[in-house]
Amino acid sequence: MLGRCLPTAKGNSSSLRFPKLVAAVSIVRNHNHRYNPHQTLPNLPAFTDFGGRESGDGLPSTMRVGIGHDTHRLAQGGPLRLGGIDIPHDKHAVGHSDADVLLHAITDALLGAAALGDIGELFPDTDPANRGRDSADMLRIAHQRTQDAGYAIVNIDCIVFAQKPKLTLHKDTIRRRIAGILTLDMNNIGLKAKTGENTGDLGREEIIMAQCIALLKTEN
Ligand SMILES: [Zn+2]
Repeated sequence: MLGRCLPTAKGNSSSLRFPKLVAAVSIVRNHNHRYNPHQTLPNLPAFTDFGGRESGDGLPSTMRVGIGHDTHRLAQGGPLRLGGIDIPHDKHAVGHSDADVLLHAITDALLGAAALGDIGELFPDTDPANRGRDSADMLRIAHQRTQDAGYAIVNIDCIVFAQKPKLTLHKDTIRRRIAGILTLDMNNIGLKAKTGENTGDLGREEIIMAQCIALLKTEN
């Protein structure tokens, strides 16, 4: 029964929302602090008790997670287009569109979470219309596709891998820009930056990479 991955239930609001769950967790915690995996907990709530829909395998169908990853080659001459803004830098990312590695990773994470394919299928580089295209445009369209499929974003979390430039000063500007594109509160957008520790293609500033994970929920 514990295989149902019980959410944590603490505090008054949770007690009000999940009375049966709080009772069940309390039984486990107060049982002389001994955890017995074979103990049967009475009246454990099903996911449907939390307002979700239960799928055939018993897992909730209200949450969908997706992952996106992208890499672009760097070439001499700035600025660097990243997260929908132009960052002063002596290199730029090379690509068919505007080569915004971060927005491409986010686009793929959203499409992946909704099982709607990937950015290459939606915006093929064989289509002249996509040459030099603003990646914010593509992200907006991909987001619309997920909304049309009945999903809303809960949050996204991203990592940019770049030896240079230092992104600390630009992180909030990028988060605000992405929040604008996705019409999302910027508190739901995580952004971290990592270097290549001066090793490999990344450390030699030959490439820039980004990863993103997105959580979607069914819109009610
Ligand atoms: Zn890309």
